[in-house]
Amino acid sequence: MVEVMAARGSPQAAMTQFVLNTLESDMNYRHVYHAGNFADVLKHAVLALVIEHLKLKPAPFRVVDTHAGIGLYDLTSEEAQKTAEWKDGIGRVLAAKRSPAVETALAPYLAIVDEEHDGGAELARYPGSPLIARRLLREGDTLVVNEAHPADHETLQDLFHRDKQVKVLGLDGWTALKSLLPPKERRGLVLVDPPFEEPGEFQRMADGLDAAARRFATGTVMMWYPIKDQRAVDRFRRSVTALAIPKLYSIEVTIRAVRTTTELSGSGLLILNPPFTLPGKLDALLPFLAKTLARGQGAGFRADWLTGEHASPA
Ligand code: SAM
Repeated sequence: MVEVMAARGSPQAAMTQFVLNTLESDMNYRHVYHAGNFADVLKHAVLALVIEHLKLKPAPFRVVDTHAGIGLYDLTSEEAQKTAEWKDGIGRVLAAKRSPAVETALAPYLAIVDEEHDGGAELARYPGSPLIARRLLREGDTLVVNEAHPADHETLQDLFHRDKQVKVLGLDGWTALKSLLPPKERRGLVLVDPPFEEPGEFQRMADGLDAAARRFATGTVMMWYPIKDQRAVDRFRRSVTALAIPKLYSIEVTIRAVRTTTELSGSGLLILNPPFTLPGKLDALLPFLAKTLARGQGAGFRADWLTGEHASPA
């Protein structure tokens, strides 16, 4: 466990620094290069819908974000400008004509994106999952955000400085997933959004889902995965289906045909216990996203139950 808040000069602080350095050397991924891209759009639009659904009941809930990033991205920064991925993600969505059904499905997400629009011709900032979740909380709901990259963890701490509804941790995300469940509210959402930089991440995700479902069987768990290597995705879907956890739903959007094993051609969300209203909201949203975000032949989408509801054999 990596606790970042050890007293300066103490043995724990030395150990913490050691672990952080070790982690940092393995942690090259920085989300600022990808903020607002096509994968963020799907993830964040669905995240907002799930949280809005939790708000339909008065009982408080908790959102846990195990791989949180920094919460707010400066799209004018050198890093974001270098890739400008947001232009083909949220940039396209904002510029697209949207039907009333799409508008309704995107409303909670776009309202938060709009808050970062400072009136300039282009978006200046883009909210990450922690800020989107925070903006949607009611008084009494809570948010736990966890980020292991030392610099990003510090930025996240600054963002939520003195916010009593938010707790910022610096644990390994897979450890956090287990140690933070179940939340005391017994209601809520867990977002698991690792960078998939290390081999074995799909297996860790399947194991994490198994552990989360055991600890928090009634909660909603949403896990993001990349679609680069179709065979790896198919294996993953089979392995989580085999866990025989009730009510597992999958949503995928591809922006081009999956031709190689290295190019990010799409992304998926695996959702345990999705809101029952979600599939209906996606009817209009997914075709819109596949069309708007397409970057070549073979763009598309699918949404299906892996287990429960109307599951068909994997
Ligand atoms: N969830 C964020 C959002 O939607 O705005 C984006 C998160 S980004 C895809 C993945 C984050 O996980 C990065 O900020 C990275 O530093 C962090 N990370 C990498 N390895 C981690 C680990 N073992 N534990 C926790 N966080 C980790």
